[in-house]
Amino acid sequence: MSILSGKGKVKLDGQKGLTKDKPILTIDTPDVVYVPLVLGVATDFDVHVKEGDHVCIGTKLATRKSMYVPIYSPVSGTVKGIEKRMHASKRLQNHIVIENDHQDEKVKAYEVADPDHMSQEDVIKAIKELGIVGLGGSGFPTYLKYENVQNIETILINGVECEPFLTSDHVAMKRDIKALFDGAHYMIKAAGAKKAIIAIKEHKPDLMELLVEEAKNYDNIEPREVPDRYPMGWERVLVRTIFKKEYDRLPAEIGVIVNNSSTAIALSKGIRNGEAITRRVVTFSGNGLKNPQNVDVAIGTPVNYIVEKIGGYIDDDCDGFLVGGGPMMGKSVMNDTFVIYSHNNAITVMKKENIQPLPCLKCGECTLHCPMHLQPVRIMQAEKAANVELIEKLDTGRCVECGMCTYICPSKIEVTDMVAKAKRRMQLAQRKKNA
Ligand code: SF4
Ligand code: SF4
Repeated sequence: MSILSGKGKVKLDGQKGLTKDKPILTIDTPDVVYVPLVLGVATDFDVHVKEGDHVCIGTKLATRKSMYVPIYSPVSGTVKGIEKRMHASKRLQNHIVIENDHQDEKVKAYEVADPDHMSQEDVIKAIKELGIVGLGGSGFPTYLKYENVQNIETILINGVECEPFLTSDHVAMKRDIKALFDGAHYMIKAAGAKKAIIAIKEHKPDLMELLVEEAKNYDNIEPREVPDRYPMGWERVLVRTIFKKEYDRLPAEIGVIVNNSSTAIALSKGIRNGEAITRRVVTFSGNGLKNPQNVDVAIGTPVNYIVEKIGGYIDDDCDGFLVGGGPMMGKSVMNDTFVIYSHNNAITVMKKENIQPLPCLKCGECTLHCPMHLQPVRIMQAEKAANVELIEKLDTGRCVECGMCTYICPSKIEVTDMVAKAKRRMQLAQRKKNA
């Protein structure tokens, strides 16, 4: 690790070489898939299928109630019912169980009559009906960024992928370079914007070459390199780096909409081919796997099935540490029975290390490097004292759980976990107060 300078500017050991140049392995769909009825933190779904129903790839299975988002079947086969299973969120959640008939019958999730002549409203409607969500990890419904916005100048396509180990966006951009630009072009249309910038990290000549070549076909889409620092891929840092501007709540306040690169690819495939997000590229990496690599896999496929297909764990008894996502912002998971979901970009498996944290040195490194300008060490102390008033006063709600304070801590204290706990304590107290 080398600390370069200033807040939020740390160069991490990326470990990207473990996967970035290997071909994407397409994983056969298993005999049974479990489609999670979970999107971000939402679990409120109307289910449109019942036990015994025949479904195709692209059949609408359910719709989120409070905020319209449809989800579609990743396989053809027979619905077996709804089952509560452990989800990556570490909670038991409803999953639609589908027995795969391996016939791969398809229907279009949404049909666009003329993809080359769509109005702004047509594109927004397609984004909504295809169930496009942020594939960079958020799962936020994409159409909500486009409905009723005004004065948008630029679509910023985020292909930075700054977390260690993650290369799923990198390889997906290379594989689907035409769809990436096509999706960006539709996003420009949806926002009535003037142009798009596709941002990637510096020192990726293979990808940059492809981007520059494809950009020759567009007069309003420009590839751009940004410094290799963590957390450059986080929206606020990326916008600050490219536009030299700050915003309060949303980048739209300064005329920018940010979307992940894989989301742009999914949008193009949706509009051109009627495909919903029923498969995705996921990075399986970390020193706990025999053969780290990127896989193209159906939503609802169990993680242990995929691990077996790519060669298994270093230790046969899986005595490792599993993270849904990357090691900085991902969440640790108890075991490998949970399934891949739409905004799941990586599974990181690390060998267990017995690290004993030391007492806090009060060195201030965590405060110095927090990209949200918070004081993690003080929040940690407030959490230890269960002091909700102080937790609130320290603006803990603004923490984005980027993992930087843990990473930087010389005493190896899990500072981020403590800050996240404080945040939940505060939210719980606020909910109780408002009830
Ligand atoms: S996890 Fe939260 S408190 Fe820690 S550095 Fe990131 S934003 Fe700051
Ligand atoms: S970086 Fe670690 S040791 Fe330093 S002040 Fe923060 S919590 Fe304490």
